Amino acid sequence: MVRRLAVHVLASGSGGNATIVEDTATGAGVLVDCGICKRDFLARCEEAGFDPTRLSAVLVTHEHTDHTKGLGVVMRGLSKLGVEPAVYADVAVRAASREVAALEGTCDMRVFSAGDVLSIEGMQAHVFRTSHDAAASCGFRFECAGDAAALMTDTGVVTGEAHEALLDVRLLALESNHDAHMLERGPYPYSVKRRVASDRGHLSNAQAAEELEALLTHRLEHVVAMHVSQRNNTYQLPGETLAAVVTRAGHGACVQVACQDGLTSIR
Ligand SMILES: [Zn+2]
Ligand SMILES: [Zn+2]
Repeated sequence: MVRRLAVHVLASGSGGNATIVEDTATGAGVLVDCGICKRDFLARCEEAGFDPTRLSAVLVTHEHTDHTKGLGVVMRGLSKLGVEPAVYADVAVRAASREVAALEGTCDMRVFSAGDVLSIEGMQAHVFRTSHDAAASCGFRFECAGDAAALMTDTGVVTGEAHEALLDVRLLALESNHDAHMLERGPYPYSVKRRVASDRGHLSNAQAAEELEALLTHRLEHVVAMHVSQRNNTYQLPGETLAAVVTRAGHGACVQVACQDGLTSIR
């Protein structure tokens, strides 16, 4: 089994999201989303053993501020370290995001669309559409020298296109946002509950479990539950729910839960 990629979840949840996908053979990496402050970004890179000056691209999944609010400060911080990664976003996201638009003229800005394959330092990033209430939203499947990892958050359902992209990877970062009962009884206003639970909201623990069951190929080694709500979920529930699927199938994949305030790495 080829073990080339590592996924470092620097932060995940409605308070902010940032994940690095690293080619461990070269040390090069790609940052997916940047909803994290510069101090936490640098501290968690160090904890992960990832050199931030090896960052060659930043990919933006969608314009919601929990994915974009740190772009400006982190890009300026990286620039001071002498590195200027290209920033990739969908055209619609670029138009809808104040944070992405503010980078205009300060760095190498590139656009992508769902279906594109981006070649970045020997890594191929396949862009697939997700189902979310954003101008455009996507997930990514990374391929590198025979290894594969996929990352999908902020989607109300798993579309056929997304399922294909997640299938047969070694490392899987999958949204497990809320427990349906906790959401129902929780503090959010009715309209927000409706939005979160809708086809353009977020995946529940049960939806993540159902999808994981369909993704248990022999290649899968590590699963990390992503974008776990601090109001409508606990950090135990997604771990237990996903691990139950793995155990029931007699599969050996290891399940972890990414959190808001600390690093979670799978490799
Ligand atoms: Zn989000
Ligand atoms: Zn979102």
